[in-house]
Amino acid sequence: MNVYLIDEGDAGLTLVDVGFEKNAAKITEAIRGIGREPSDLTNILITHAHPDHLGSAAHFESDTTPATMHAIDAEIARAGKIEQTMSPGPGLLNSILFRILIGSKPATFPPVAAKISVQDGDTLDIAGGIEVVHTPGHTGGHVSFLWKRDGGILFAGDVASNMTGFNYSLGYDDLATAENSLARLGRLDFDTAVFGHGNPIMENAAKRFAKKWPSPE
Ligand SMILES: [Zn+2]
Repeated sequence: MNVYLIDEGDAGLTLVDVGFEKNAAKITEAIRGIGREPSDLTNILITHAHPDHLGSAAHFESDTTPATMHAIDAEIARAGKIEQTMSPGPGLLNSILFRILIGSKPATFPPVAAKISVQDGDTLDIAGGIEVVHTPGHTGGHVSFLWKRDGGILFAGDVASNMTGFNYSLGYDDLATAENSLARLGRLDFDTAVFGHGNPIMENAAKRFAKKWPSPE
């Protein structure tokens, strides 16, 4: 599970996704590892309400460090509980891993206040501007964050993954909706894509989306 940290110097630090509840100490250690403190955090951006992406949010969020999510998933985050509503993503490996890692039980996590709700097209005043792209399908309120620098950097969350290759995620609430989201990402402009699970794609990333999930004619 990947957690990303944007360091804006005096303007603060932004976490993008925050791992499981048990990962809070490790994240703190990583922040101190670059000579900063958790109190330097100014923003927490969360792609979606799954325990491996927001489990530590309650630990780090505060009045001055709000957690930002799409309204649909923010509601789940505030409840601190998610019913398991996903089906395995396409492919044999996903169906095997899904059974091992996800199963059918609801998951709980420390409730997140998620003070800032965003929607598609919003631009966050963080690190020179980060655009919210609503990419539902993995969850209803899944968002990706497009940071418009260095040719564009997409924080893709779990819309896709890049673990054993660039592919579908382990599971989706609604695969057809996810496929629309994936095709839409291919029409955007970004060189780099980073994922909740797996390795980054460092060049021509939007073209890789477009090739794998072409837009309908
Ligand atoms: Zn997820």
